[in-house]
Amino acid sequence: MSQSGFEVARLTVRLGAVAENYRTCRRLAAGAAVAGVVKADGYGLGAAEIAHALLTQGCDTFFVARLEEGIALRPITPKARIFVLDGVREQSAAALVEYNLTPVLNALDEIALWAQTARGRDAAIHIDTGMSRLGLSPTELAVLAAETGQRLAGINPVLVMSHLACADDPSDATNFTQLDRFRAALAQLSPMPASLASSGGILLGPDYAFDLVRPGIALYGGNPRKGSKNPFGVAARLTGRILQLRRVDKGESVGYGATFRVERPMTLATVALGYADGLMRVLGNRGAGAIGGHKVPIVGRVSMDLVTLDVSDVPAATSGAEVEFLGDTVLLEHVAEAAGTANYEILTALGARIPRVYTSESAP
Ligand SMILES: *Cc1c(COP(=O)(O)O)cnc(C)c1O
Repeated sequence: MSQSGFEVARLTVRLGAVAENYRTCRRLAAGAAVAGVVKADGYGLGAAEIAHALLTQGCDTFFVARLEEGIALRPITPKARIFVLDGVREQSAAALVEYNLTPVLNALDEIALWAQTARGRDAAIHIDTGMSRLGLSPTELAVLAAETGQRLAGINPVLVMSHLACADDPSDATNFTQLDRFRAALAQLSPMPASLASSGGILLGPDYAFDLVRPGIALYGGNPRKGSKNPFGVAARLTGRILQLRRVDKGESVGYGATFRVERPMTLATVALGYADGLMRVLGNRGAGAIGGHKVPIVGRVSMDLVTLDVSDVPAATSGAEVEFLGDTVLLEHVAEAAGTANYEILTALGARIPRVYTSESAP
């Protein structure tokens, strides 16, 4: 609740749906363990609360991107394994050790550094199989393999992993190429647990599951596979309240830049959400809200703190009424499509100003 007692906007996070989505991953993961990816503050929904919900489901492995994210997560999951995707540098090695965080080592020199500074401690090894982003290159892998374990002798490799570039499209041949390369990499290393699939990879089938899967977006209700039914339940609802209603006549314009011209008398609702809250400006004249399950179009530009909607056909649009901008009617994937971006960016763009409200409810 805001101090005035009237909360104009909120992000409702359904922890029951997150838990259900975790169980769905487990069902689909062909017996592999299921980690929780909670980087970027749990994709904007709140890493601490998400991690807590996952712990209750028996999740004992988490992935974050940054060292700081791992440090923040440590007291919430005192016993869990926390992998840090950024890897290790001279400046971060001591903190990784202090907080018992497990780096994902992305290069030969990182392996050497970890062996030197954290002798014998756990680490994951990341192999680049086609993202060209992080991880050992094929040349580096060959060096590592030829050393017959010397470099690895200084560390305790608990996981070898790679990351898929096109897992949202099961027909993309890149998936098979990466699977082949990953298998070839595993064959060059001494046996250890392996992980290839994030959310999209989980839906590619058991060949991709290996020992551990690493879902992020699926836990948060995002559809990891383009153009097919989403097997995961909506976990985040973004709502705002109508501050003001007005009748506008033909010929008037709406918002900055007068980008919307009123063609017939209409009723507009102004809602207290804007691009500072993550309701992207690009959604002006493109996106929609929903009132009681009825979609209402956004008209005019989205402002920093406000957005206007055409509610002419919706009697339930009264002052103070709740408008959904993300949730069960306005689906995450549709917002992403209207904004010309990915599910991921919509969630992680949600502003810090919006109060997060946690409920134990599941998706309907
Ligand atoms: C972000 C990330 C994930 C999670 O990906 P989703 O598509 O959200 O499931 C898994 N692994 C790595 C290496 C990542 O960077």
